[in-house]
Order: sequence, then C-alpha cells, then structure tokens
Amino acid sequence: MTDLEIRLIPAFTDNYIYALRDSASGAVAVVDPGEAGAAIAALERFGWRPDLILLTHHHPDHIGGAIELRTRFGSQVVGALADQSRLPPLDRAVAEGDQVLLGGTELAVLEVPGHTVGHIAYVGGGALFSGDTLFSLGCGRMFEGTAAQMWNSLTKLRALPDTLAIYCGHEYTASNARFAVTVDPDNAALHRRIAEVTALRAAGRPTIPASLADERATNPFLRADDPTVARMLGLDREPSDAVADPVAVFAALRQRKDHF
Ligand SMILES: [Zn+2]
Repeated sequence: MTDLEIRLIPAFTDNYIYALRDSASGAVAVVDPGEAGAAIAALERFGWRPDLILLTHHHPDHIGGAIELRTRFGSQVVGALADQSRLPPLDRAVAEGDQVLLGGTELAVLEVPGHTVGHIAYVGGGALFSGDTLFSLGCGRMFEGTAAQMWNSLTKLRALPDTLAIYCGHEYTASNARFAVTVDPDNAALHRRIAEVTALRAAGRPTIPASLADERATNPFLRADDPTVARMLGLDREPSDAVADPVAVFAALRQRKDHF
C-alpha cells in the first residue's frame, strides 16, 4: 500500500520525471524535472501544482526544468547538501538521514554516491526514487565515484524492503536486459522479467516501476556478490569455496557494460 499516487512523465528520449501526490493532503512533488515543458504540460493536465521539487543529482537532464517550475508554481527545491554548488538554488539542502515531508508522507534521504558523488535517493510511501543510481536490470555509469562507492550505494538500496516500487531516472530496461542475460544466462527470474519487459515495450508501455524483490533476483549489478555472476566473469577463486571480492566483480561488470 502506498500513500502516494505516482505518475510518470516521459521527457527527452528516455528520461522519466515523476509527479507524486500525497493522497490524504493533496500535496504534490515533482522528482527530477529535467525538462520544464514536459513537466508543466503534464502537471496542468493532472491539475496538480507542485509544492516540492526533489532533485537526485546535478545532471542537466534531471534538473533542467527546476528553476522554471519553481518560478511558475512557487515550489520549494530540495537537493543534496553535498552538491549544492552545482544544483539550482536549493530551498532545502538535505543529507543522509534527513526526512522530507510531502503532506503526511515521509520521504527519507539516502546518500548513494557513485554515478555522481553527491547523488541522493528518496524513499517513502512504498516507493524508491533512485535517479541514475539504480535502474531496472542495471545501474548508472560511474562518472564521478569509485566502484567501491557505487557497490556500497547499491547494497544500501538492495537492503530496503522487498515491497518497494523502484522509480528510476531512465527507461533503459530493455537494453539493460540484453546485457544482463550475457552475464547471468541461467537465471530463470531474469528470463521471466525479460519476457515481461519485451511485452511491455512492444505495447509501448513503461517497464517502471520495477519491484525491489525482482531487481534483487535479476539485476546483475545487485548480484556482484553472487558466486554465479563471479564465475561467469571468470572471477571465481580457487579453492572454489572462496568468495570473490564483490567490488572487483562489480567493477568488472560495470566495465563490461560500458563497452557492451
Ligand atoms: Zn545522471
């Protein structure tokens, strides 16, 4: 059960902006409005005025429309304290452990560096807004952080409740699936998810939200500590009961995906 009504707003070629409405209070937030035009058109269609603009990280395709929305709707802009210098002017700068209130819905702030060093995620109301850290069947490129940081961030997200619905920054699932199957070919849950993704995309529908339980079972980047994945990458150790270093496995996965 979620206290939030969540609507997807497609932007650019494969970004998602999210509009959230706390059902009880009617309070509205917009996550990562990269493009003002798409966000404003959708919000007007919904009849929603955003009280909050929640930013996950500083990339232009996530923040580009924030100032225009703030000017138009008088919204408060929330973003990472650690990245304040390269985000639009923030009304509230947040860090790990902070709570953002949307009406009666509490959204907890998690610091998840790796894609960028100041990347944050928001979790609450049964939903995880993971930006470009965790994608369905994939994860963001490490533009700024290290493999150890990114793996740590992903394991932090992986530890959240099974029932969470993941709302990520891009519709990359089908292309991520093509890579995932090369490193985890015998994973039945992955094959089921790929069939689902293929059917959704063929029908022109989003693959988002994804469930965290599914991602834990199918996303190779959440499975770098699974011996099966290490073995596929040739990183399993002798004797065979020794566990490969998950950071090394994760780094090898990410590098392989970068050149896929
Ligand atoms: Zn990004």
